[in-house]
Amino acid sequence: MNKLTIDDLDLNGRRVLVRVDFNVPLDEGGRVRDPTRILAALPTIRRILDSGGSAVLMSHLGRPKGKRDMSFSLSPVADALEDELGRSVKFTDDCIGQEAEAAAGSLQPGDVLLLENLRFHPEEEADDPGFAEALARLGDLYVNDAFGTAHRAHASTHALAHSFPGKAAAGCLMEKELRYLGAALADPERPFVAIIGGAKISTKIEVLRRLLRLVDSLLIGGGMTYTLVKARGGRIGDSLCEEDKLSVAGEILSLPEADRLRLPIDSVAAQDPEAAAETRVFPSDDIPDGWRGLDIGPVARGEFVAAVSEARTVLWNGPVGLFERSPFDVGTRDVAEAMAELTRRGGVTIVGGGDSVAALNIFGLADRMSHVSTGGGASLEFLEGKPLPGVEALTDREEGQ
Ligand code: AMP
Repeated sequence: MNKLTIDDLDLNGRRVLVRVDFNVPLDEGGRVRDPTRILAALPTIRRILDSGGSAVLMSHLGRPKGKRDMSFSLSPVADALEDELGRSVKFTDDCIGQEAEAAAGSLQPGDVLLLENLRFHPEEEADDPGFAEALARLGDLYVNDAFGTAHRAHASTHALAHSFPGKAAAGCLMEKELRYLGAALADPERPFVAIIGGAKISTKIEVLRRLLRLVDSLLIGGGMTYTLVKARGGRIGDSLCEEDKLSVAGEILSLPEADRLRLPIDSVAAQDPEAAAETRVFPSDDIPDGWRGLDIGPVARGEFVAAVSEARTVLWNGPVGLFERSPFDVGTRDVAEAMAELTRRGGVTIVGGGDSVAALNIFGLADRMSHVSTGGGASLEFLEGKPLPGVEALTDREEGQ
């Protein structure tokens, strides 16, 4: 990685302005329902405090559309962070202005301050330099640990980094994300297998093109299977199909590397996924009308598990079936378990994308992967090979301290 990381900064006695991703789900009572993202930020926060610095944390939560909408307040996150961190967390009602500056100015080494939702100000999403300047007054150093929003050029992820020339660094989580995803793409231990699933092919076309050039095999699962099968002339019954993506699916099938692409040979299908009274297994390219492919079939499951077992690096994005509903979770579970076993045997397993991470959490296997990416959209854009503005804006290693 050619960007400064938090390890390169002298944190002692410094106020460190940290962009974290505290965009957590809240329950009806306004409490944090899932603290995963808070836990993911702890290594960076602890590093700052343990090194004699203080932390000024900033984040967005939800989409308040530039208005002060208290249902998107970060105040419940301050409480949850206190519990996780085991020390008190100060909170300011606005992320800029006098109150925020006074609170940041009074921080002592070891103190933590969380600012109110950045997106209460429309200038945040507009990447406004004046707003970034107002934020910059709150810290001596800048650290971006919000991989999940690194694909957005917003004031706190982009303009703000430019207010800290020579001292804008990646946090621990950001660094880990870039290290795992970057190494998988640049120099993977082979065989390198990718598994791409999910409902739609439309969001993953560029990822498929790029991965096909890099992997030894690319296994397809999930609803996107059927657009590809239909493009190849198969019969998909009532399975999910993006008609307007048939021609681009055909282009992918005729790429020079298309022999690395493996579609599931069979599918578990149902007539009505809601009722799921009866399921049947059909060849994925011969599903009768009235039936919908909702999971990879038993032969495909065996092939997917074998491909994972023989690999040394596996990258997985998107469930291979309607995993939220039994019995269509079996394929996704088999993939997750085979990956957990590969991790145990020393292979590299990387999971990205909100739904595959949700599946891992349901199966209780998240901590059995080498790396679980916290950023769905950001990890897809990274895999596509697009530069991430929140990473680009950080200080290059050679210009740093
Ligand atoms: P995506 O957001 O495109 O990654 O899609 C994730 C969603 O795809 C999850 O909610 C899955 O339940 C769903 N999904 C996976 N396989 C299928 C399938 N064969 N038919 C319909 N939905 C599916």
